[in-house]
Amino acid sequence: MQPDNTTMTLPEYASPAFNRLISEAEARGDIGGAEALRRQITASEGEQAITDEERADPLGEAQYCVTPFLVHQYYNRALLLSTGKCLSYCRYCFRREFTARKSRFISPAEIEQAAAYIEKTPHIQELLVSGGDPLTGSFEQFTGLLRRLRKIRPDLLLRLCTRAPIFAPELFTEELTGFLQQVRPLWVILHVNHPAELGAAQIAAISRLIDSGIPIQSQTVLLRGVNDNADTLVQLFHRLVCLGVKPGYLFQMDLAHGTAGFRVPLENARLLWKELKHRLSGLSMPQFAVDLPGGGGKFSLSSVILSEDIIEPIHNNQFSARGIDGKIHTYPEKHTPNT
Ligand SMILES: *Cc1c(COP(=O)(O)O)cnc(C)c1O
Repeated sequence: MQPDNTTMTLPEYASPAFNRLISEAEARGDIGGAEALRRQITASEGEQAITDEERADPLGEAQYCVTPFLVHQYYNRALLLSTGKCLSYCRYCFRREFTARKSRFISPAEIEQAAAYIEKTPHIQELLVSGGDPLTGSFEQFTGLLRRLRKIRPDLLLRLCTRAPIFAPELFTEELTGFLQQVRPLWVILHVNHPAELGAAQIAAISRLIDSGIPIQSQTVLLRGVNDNADTLVQLFHRLVCLGVKPGYLFQMDLAHGTAGFRVPLENARLLWKELKHRLSGLSMPQFAVDLPGGGGKFSLSSVILSEDIIEPIHNNQFSARGIDGKIHTYPEKHTPNT
């Protein structure tokens, strides 16, 4: 990955399954849902406008590349970018430069390069297989990649990061889920942004994974004009939990080129998150996070928001905070000296 300052154009394409979701939303009179879906995949003039704070590589991934396709930023986990290709192209994509440049699946030689690094770095316990979408590869390419990774490291936890259950639920045949079952330990990390993305076909694909014993965690991007209201997010996270999917992350947008139109101002995001916290259970609540621009890694915005309720930070083994009852509480009430 060699980001520079030339902006590449992200292809414009939406899958048949996603277009079908839009038609279905329209047919049942869900105008808001149809618009939320359409907005995600329709290129706009705004994409040409690059603001000062936007970057070609907003997460600073280039500095952590240990092979051209392997990003090792956190001690115990790494990220493999298997392809730049996607099943549909989200206009707010933070990896849009990579996606636009690398439109093919990782080659066998490139896999070996990454595999050699993973093999000699046993403290990598988890590998995120992402892209692009790994499921744009042919069945042979995709299964070949995961088989190879499993062979070099039988203990490695694989995290398949994909939007395929939404964009291409038809891919989740018995053959594919059977294969995923075989290469466990594996989690599917599902990118999903709106309840209207969970049509009958999508639910069937997700259920097939869950029924095969493949756990799913979701990640959602907070998007202006798509899901930046509490009702939509409450519905999304509750429906996911009902399907057996644990909401993992809600992400504040990264500063990728031409994506300003999708960014929710932090102040609005803060109010939204507070409302979610009142309306959702701990189980249904994702972590609210942002990648610090330039390579600082994921940072919990929940903790920033909650810090408003801290009256006294931790000092001498105690702190005081405002509880949900509006009163101030201190933990611990008594200081226990070491014996
Ligand atoms: C998000 C991310 C991970 C995974 O982090 P978790 O906190 O375990 O979700 C790993 N590597 C990179 C480069 C990432 O961006």
